[in-house]
Amino acid sequence: MSLPTEKKRLARKALPPGLHRDTLAVREGMPASQYGENSEALYLTSSYVQPDAATAARRFAEEEEAFTYSRFGNPTVMMMERRLAALEGTSGCMGTSSGMSAILLLLMGLLKAGDHVVCSRSVFGSTIRLLQGEMGKFGVESTFVSQTDVDAWRQAMRPNTRLLMAESPTNPLTDVCDIAALADIAHRGGALLAVDNCFCSPALQNPVKFGADFVLHSGTKYLDGQGRVIAGALCGPEDILQTRMLPVMKSGGLTLSPFNAWVVLKGLETLSVRMQAHSARALQVAQWLADQPQVARVHYPGLASHPQHALAMAQQRGSGGAVVSFDVKGQGADDLRARAFRVIDAAQVASITTNLGDVKTTICHPASTSHGRLTEAQRQAAGIGQGLVRYAVGLEDVGDLTADLQRGLEQLA
Ligand SMILES: *Cc1c(COP(=O)(O)O)cnc(C)c1O
Repeated sequence: MSLPTEKKRLARKALPPGLHRDTLAVREGMPASQYGENSEALYLTSSYVQPDAATAARRFAEEEEAFTYSRFGNPTVMMMERRLAALEGTSGCMGTSSGMSAILLLLMGLLKAGDHVVCSRSVFGSTIRLLQGEMGKFGVESTFVSQTDVDAWRQAMRPNTRLLMAESPTNPLTDVCDIAALADIAHRGGALLAVDNCFCSPALQNPVKFGADFVLHSGTKYLDGQGRVIAGALCGPEDILQTRMLPVMKSGGLTLSPFNAWVVLKGLETLSVRMQAHSARALQVAQWLADQPQVARVHYPGLASHPQHALAMAQQRGSGGAVVSFDVKGQGADDLRARAFRVIDAAQVASITTNLGDVKTTICHPASTSHGRLTEAQRQAAGIGQGLVRYAVGLEDVGDLTADLQRGLEQLA
């Protein structure tokens, strides 16, 4: 068989405008190669051959757009970026090596010494350490406020505040922030709002619809969806990404591997149906947990008892997401911890791991793992007690999951 040449290239029809995000998740961001493949190609190449020295010079000088080196750009990574931008409704997206490197890219691109950040106290632990420790070393100051207290955000604003950062719902207590209210505070103060959208993914929540400027993703979670790769992305206005973030990307090497980009790209195709299935199961698990006598409290935005239930339903397309946390009943920290451990250790279906966003249900004890580095006082301020168990609901049968939890709860009688 003779291979088709560039001249015989199979043209892919342009997509019509106004497509639903479920269609974009499958179809957006796929330029055809000369081979006309129907599944996205994986371009495992570190560099790109240039036709001649003068063209190479123009391309390296950024006078002509073309791929030169995969730290700067790669076709598979670009496909993932275009698809994710379409799903988030942003004009741009940059794939990064991890969720944390997406946050680092945002901070390094946007901030300089003397700038101030207001951040929710309940964001991912590494985000707090990055802001407080690493960015602090370079003269960026951060104030941490309650996720749900809008007045506290307003009061924390200073003339040099450049960025507000939130995450909604939070891990592990599923606190929901009012994105529109925070966007308003940011914009009135001449700052920008970034929202970490890991827990909902664009299938359930689009922060820019409520006024956020940037959306952060750990591709490691629901975007991949099957627990295979570490990946991340920063979605936002293309002009800011190009002028502020691209230089950091190029010089700093926060680059996403093409292979991991490909895994996420294929994961995006099934994201919407997975999130619906995850959330439907999570709601059933949460309702079941709320009825168990050994359970003191269930944290799940899909339950009417959740303090921000109405807000969550409005922001998250009527869905509570896939993460449920619950407090077991007990007396004092040691007893609570022992009881939570018993429930976790009884699991024969759920995996004991702190990851989430996987088809495999995971169970963990936040106070001794993800939040284990906090002092007891910090943990109590955050509301993360020793009796708290986090349950990230996968795609197993609900009956098998509740039976798995029942095995543990029975031992607490
Ligand atoms: C996991 C996670 C991150 C970090 O992502 P990595 O891919 O592990 O770097 C950031 N934010 C949230 C909410 C997360 O759950």
